[in-house]
Amino acid sequence: MNRHSATPGSFTEPPKKSLGQNFLHERGVVERIVLAVNPQPGERLVEIGPGQGAMTFPLLKRHGALTAIEFDRDLLEPLTLQAAAHGTLDLIHANVLDVDFTALAGDGPIRLVGNLPYNLSSPILFHALDHAAVITDMHFMLQKEVVERMASGPGSKVYGRLSVMLQAYCTVTMLFVVGPGAFRPPPKVDSAVVRLTPRPASQVGIDDPRRFADIVRAAFGQRRKTLRNALSTLMEADTIAAAGIDPQARAEQLAVADFVRLANYVPPA
Ligand code: SAM
Repeated sequence: MNRHSATPGSFTEPPKKSLGQNFLHERGVVERIVLAVNPQPGERLVEIGPGQGAMTFPLLKRHGALTAIEFDRDLLEPLTLQAAAHGTLDLIHANVLDVDFTALAGDGPIRLVGNLPYNLSSPILFHALDHAAVITDMHFMLQKEVVERMASGPGSKVYGRLSVMLQAYCTVTMLFVVGPGAFRPPPKVDSAVVRLTPRPASQVGIDDPRRFADIVRAAFGQRRKTLRNALSTLMEADTIAAAGIDPQARAEQLAVADFVRLANYVPPA
């Protein structure tokens, strides 16, 4: 992890597909994101993937300071140079998946923002969940289809592991949809901005996060199978029933609270 210092430059490199670089250029969309984030004095903002600064510079102008994590070395110089006119940018050159948000937060909570590289959306979301205790909220631009999965409930075709894991730890609010034309180059799909607000640990109610994650993964890993079969390596059908869940049900029929109950259930000794 290297912090970058200023040297002259401008954005000359073409967007890199391998890094999910679709740069936002529609001012109205940026303004809506800044309004949604609505940073307050004293808060610490951390942007994932500042790119060519579409959100970084307006946020800096509004808030004065920002930490940003960018993987593409070619963007560091121009970002640093251009940011200087707007505020104090703490630019970290790293793969965001290697960044320990808890260490970065230190004493106080952080707020995450980002127009995420779509090829890494799920790993970044799960990585952020691991550090939910230090995150006040997250505002992310993602593929609309991913946001729909995140926000869906039992019975929906797109309800799955991502929905359960995120909703167990956060409230998920889809804010607005953004068409491909707002980006250069335009992605093939619609996008949407989502707000994730981690719940306080006392409200989450999961006794063993690892066991919870294992059960949700196994249940949806074979979503056509009954829970009895999908969870056979983790628990007996009798245990599923004793937890108040029908072993013949499928994962997609269970509410988030059902998964929590199943994971927390301890059979009497
Ligand atoms: N925020 C800019 C915007 O809205 O125009 C850029 C968004 S672009 C969709 C995604 C950004 O994430 C790019 O700048 C890309 O280089 C960066 N990125 C890709 N993979 C990354 C990673 N693993 N860690 C940190 N940044 C990454």
